[in-house]
Amino acid sequence: MSKIIDGKAIAKDIRMDIKQKVDKREQKGLRIPGLAVIIVGENPASKIYVQNKRKACKEVGFISYDYDLDASVSNETLFNLIDKLNHDDAVDGILVQLPLPSHIDSDRVLEAIVPHKDVDGFHPYNIGKLMQRNPLLRPCTPKGIMTLLESTKETFKGKHAVIVGASNIVGRPMLMELLLAGATVTTCHRFTDDLPSHLKRADIVVAAVGKAKFIQGEWLKEGATVIDVGINRLDDGSLSGDVDFDSAVKKAKYITPVPGGVGPMTIATLLQNTLFACEYLHNKA
Ligand code: NAP
Repeated sequence: MSKIIDGKAIAKDIRMDIKQKVDKREQKGLRIPGLAVIIVGENPASKIYVQNKRKACKEVGFISYDYDLDASVSNETLFNLIDKLNHDDAVDGILVQLPLPSHIDSDRVLEAIVPHKDVDGFHPYNIGKLMQRNPLLRPCTPKGIMTLLESTKETFKGKHAVIVGASNIVGRPMLMELLLAGATVTTCHRFTDDLPSHLKRADIVVAAVGKAKFIQGEWLKEGATVIDVGINRLDDGSLSGDVDFDSAVKKAKYITPVPGGVGPMTIATLLQNTLFACEYLHNKA
């Protein structure tokens, strides 16, 4: 039987560690980290994600700057706000929740955030730094997954990792993280032929497809480590990952649950990135 990688517990430890560091900063009279979270419109899933991020931010003692903008907000208003936050010394991180309404160019928005406040790690500068093996602010979900993988104490070197999904926010930066860690990496996507044949050779599987129970246990190599990024709402209201947990758990050595695996790590890593930006990139008292 697999060992469950408990993302909830690991994320809790990270948040406690951050809280202690923030308390120490406060005792020393140092500036408290600040995170600005911008949401545009009323997307229900986005509202829940933003709520959770703001709550976590306050729990570790950061200052949360909340901006809830109307879905019809103009490009000019949004870009002016980002510019203001870029120049605000109290703000260490700026996060714009995606997706944005169609009249706003998301790529331009992400590029408008100064790279040293880009705590989501999506700016082309930060993606480029990771690509060039010199990461600065790293995309939260892949970085959080690296923390989960490291918790198993298994080596990456010489291992074959297969990522299913090649999105900008998960699959592609995940490829660079695993490569940097010394794994040999295959990235599969919609046009990959014979996906099970790739998974059969995988010591590490990262599933980020967005399709409930898509990856079957019988496709996996015996003893693989399986990281399930997917968050899919089933008809009965429950959540499912992209991996068919019941069959995968019989083959995997380590596996993450959904919920309670990757999800809590994404937020914990956002907090880590914000503290890092405060302590190392904005070294002002
Ligand atoms: P996405 O942008 O929709 O990307 C999905 C990827 O899967 C694409 O690269 C797509 O290929 C690929 N794909 C689709 N069908 C496939 C198939 N049949 N075989 C192989 N690959 C296939 O999704 P995402 O933003 O990366 O998110 C993926 C999942 O993770 C979603 O369930 C999302 O909710 C979840 N998620 C969770 C967290 C977290 O914190 N836990 C964070 C982010 C996302 P193409 O590139 O060829 O289209």
